[in-house]
Amino acid sequence: MSAVKATSAPQRAMHKLGLVRDIDLALHLPLRYEDETRIVAIASLRHGNTAQVEGTVQDARVDSRSRRQLVVHIADDGAELVLRFLHFYPSQQKALAPAQRVRVRGEVRGGFLGREMVHPAFKVVAEGAPLPTQLTPVYPTSAQLPQAYLRKAVAAGLARALLEELLPPAALPPGLPTLKEALHTLHHPPPKLALAALEDRSHPAWQRLKYEELLAQQLAQAEAMRERALLRAPPLATTGGRATLHARLLAALPFTLTAAQRRVCTEIDAELARVQPMHRLLQGDVGSGKTVVAALAACRAIDAGWQCALMAPTEILAEQHFAKLVQWLAPLGVTVAWLTGSRRGKGRTKMLAQVASGEAALVVGTHAVIQRDVVFARLALAIVDEQHRFGVAQRLALREKLATQALEPHLLMMSATPIPRTLAMTYFADLDVSTIDELPPGRTAIVTKLFADTRRDAVIARIRDEVARGRQVYWVCPLIEESETLDLQDATEAHQQLSAALPGRSVGLVHGRMPAAEKAAAMAQFTAGTMSVLVATTVIEVGVDVPNASLMVVEHAERFGLSQLHQLRGRVGRGAVASACVLLYSTPLGETARARLKAMIETSDGFEIARRDLEIRGPGEFMGSRQSGAALLRFADLNEDGALLERARRVAPRLLAEQPDAARAQVARWLGTRSEYLNA
Ligand code: ADP
Ligand code: MG
Repeated sequence: MSAVKATSAPQRAMHKLGLVRDIDLALHLPLRYEDETRIVAIASLRHGNTAQVEGTVQDARVDSRSRRQLVVHIADDGAELVLRFLHFYPSQQKALAPAQRVRVRGEVRGGFLGREMVHPAFKVVAEGAPLPTQLTPVYPTSAQLPQAYLRKAVAAGLARALLEELLPPAALPPGLPTLKEALHTLHHPPPKLALAALEDRSHPAWQRLKYEELLAQQLAQAEAMRERALLRAPPLATTGGRATLHARLLAALPFTLTAAQRRVCTEIDAELARVQPMHRLLQGDVGSGKTVVAALAACRAIDAGWQCALMAPTEILAEQHFAKLVQWLAPLGVTVAWLTGSRRGKGRTKMLAQVASGEAALVVGTHAVIQRDVVFARLALAIVDEQHRFGVAQRLALREKLATQALEPHLLMMSATPIPRTLAMTYFADLDVSTIDELPPGRTAIVTKLFADTRRDAVIARIRDEVARGRQVYWVCPLIEESETLDLQDATEAHQQLSAALPGRSVGLVHGRMPAAEKAAAMAQFTAGTMSVLVATTVIEVGVDVPNASLMVVEHAERFGLSQLHQLRGRVGRGAVASACVLLYSTPLGETARARLKAMIETSDGFEIARRDLEIRGPGEFMGSRQSGAALLRFADLNEDGALLERARRVAPRLLAEQPDAARAQVARWLGTRSEYLNA
């Protein structure tokens, strides 16, 4: 296997795209094809066509009257075509000299002076030069990587790659070509082939590729499952009846658990008691009461004499958890430590010592909890809130860090974004799922309304009413990662406008660039009820819990994902107060954007919203794989390729058992260095 060394800019760009090994190049498939196999007569060109013509240069001159440009006239049997180049090199100008014969390909425009092409691809040819017999592939690429360079690299990779059949015929759906044949067809389709079948990916060559990919992915999952079965974790079975922390917490809670909470607690307890590490996702809609389930799981660890770590993606969310857990557990004699990135100095040193000695039975924080200098005495359970926002890489770090004493900690991940069934089954074959499918009693429905941004005044009037009744209001502005300044501008403006509109009321502002202490102070005021309106960037997206908040306003709602909006909406309606969510959008609103926002009015079911979000965004984005740089499925589409997925699921465990070498080779071929991510 020869690997490309990244030395030039295009090579570095190839590395970034994951095109390192020959097989990576061979599996880099065209987005579409260009037909250079035919030449059409200039006279037959129509506006909007993309076509290839061949003719003789009649005239070529640099026109400087308006914008400097190279204007070339070519002609075939009597018809003329103008080629226009706004940027050109002297070498190109030289090549396009009168009497040269050129082959030109581009999009036709019905120009002012007749037909023309702007910046067509061209090459000088001899009369009667043969045409390519195959379609020309166009590959997905990036700015630093010219198509022609990539095309050559892929062709070379394809020629060198070892494409022997790894899978026994019995493992394959019938009637598909070999991998080698499939790849050759897809990179260089013969001209007679129906392009539609290639482009909609229904052609058997595509089926083969998709199946290969799905099978590799299922094999990686099956392997991960087998490995997990060999791992050992401390069994957290507890005896001791009513004296346990677990029992005392249950007795002290101001509410009784819902049936759904009781059910998931039983599922979690049963698994914690085993010697295999738990690897479980706890999913439940916003407000379904996951925190208390986490706290009860933590009690199991503590009762058995071990430590528990609870991590959240943002400092504010971590702090909310911390506050709640201290409120519940400190009176019962539990020391809860608090670790975040911003906590430094003496306080931190003291916390670290408490964690290292085991005095702190529960450690709450951001991913600072998995930093190198944090050493646990006896960690047995790690709980991660909103795991899809907690990068895959961090999850790996957690597992590695905590593999102490030859034991793995149990892992519980919590998410308010339910995972649709197909996804759960595909990506999380190695993950057990517990679902809280019931909200605690006494919640009121949230009314959702759409408002054009031009009706801000009406919204502000509504805010005034809520505040006058002693209620509290969130105003959320989107966080645009690329442009934090712009983002702050929205939030700052809203803050000023609301402060002016609500004299005598406290209007606060929280954003990602604020020092943590200021953020915490603002959040504390809002939680305590002394602040009426909280303007925030999406830092409050997950988890904050202020039952007196009755109105959520989201500015530029069209820029949010549906699941994000659902999360935000879940910040209100947490008490017995009738609550509303106002989605402000800027006009004009496109059709898709309108349909998406309408979905928010039509349903308040997190599962349904996740399903629609998935439809719109596709699974890659859904899983946040973009952040981790590992696109999990490149070719198969979970909505369309269910039958292939089912077969891959059936075949994978058998292949792994009967032909482990072939199985491993298949995973390596497809996932290469990415397989470790799948096991995370
Ligand atoms: P989420 O699942 O969104 O994290 P939380 O754990 O923050 O939800 O719970 C939302 C609110 O509901 C909290 O105030 C919590 O104390 C409360 N709560 C949780 N379980 C119950 C219950 N069984 N009965 C009443 N209130 C509950
Ligand atoms: Mg929560």
